[in-house]
Amino acid sequence: MDIAQRLLKVNQRIQQAEKASNRAAGSVQLLAVSKTKPVEDLLAAIAAEQTRFGENYLQEALEKISALKGQPLEWHFIGPIQSNKTRPIAENFTWVHSVDRLKIAQRLNDQRPQHLPPLNICLQVNVDNEASKSGFNLDELSQVAKEIAALPRLNLRGLMCIPATRSEFEQQRKPFAQLRQAMEQLQQQGLKLDTLSMGMSGDLEAAVAEGATFVRIGTDIFGARNYPTS
Ligand SMILES: *Cc1c(COP(=O)(O)O)cnc(C)c1O
Repeated sequence: MDIAQRLLKVNQRIQQAEKASNRAAGSVQLLAVSKTKPVEDLLAAIAAEQTRFGENYLQEALEKISALKGQPLEWHFIGPIQSNKTRPIAENFTWVHSVDRLKIAQRLNDQRPQHLPPLNICLQVNVDNEASKSGFNLDELSQVAKEIAALPRLNLRGLMCIPATRSEFEQQRKPFAQLRQAMEQLQQQGLKLDTLSMGMSGDLEAAVAEGATFVRIGTDIFGARNYPTS
């Protein structure tokens, strides 16, 4: 299968999952995760009408953004963020899904150029409390979300998670349900949030069942990654 065919298949899976949980068609947006993949692969996806791309590695992302300038694309940063690298992220992306420290949010806010609209962000939540993963813990979320929502050059849109791998559908749903409930709690506190960034190639159906608004799909669109990702 080529990239256009795989993309079609992923879009069909999303549509089926929307239907299965009585969600409106088009309520889940597909983020094509193109890390490690060459510009030609992105062009193949663009030819098949994909416009949103997620990248994890800043230098690689900046090269692709520059190579594809002039195309009507939306760039999402979804990888780990070093605090000395926030400026090019604030300058070149429309969304950042992986905000995992207050300090990172403050720097992105200070560095977002005035001529651009506020930067859309999600707070990454470490739903499984894994020592190896970054993200806020559920118990600190309420306080930090309040502080970050007050930053004028950011638009806090919602939450993101990367749960531990599970193979059973019902097990996969649990961390996604936790993220949804965490967002609902923040909404009850008055925060205007509309985004749950959750679900990857192996668990997108479970994420859609729990309310995902972005699914982040790499492997099932572009194939196995071209080099190790860590
Ligand atoms: C790589 C990556 C993905 C895509 O994962 P696949 O399993 O290849 O679909 C999604 N989200 C994040 C944060 C990633 O780093």
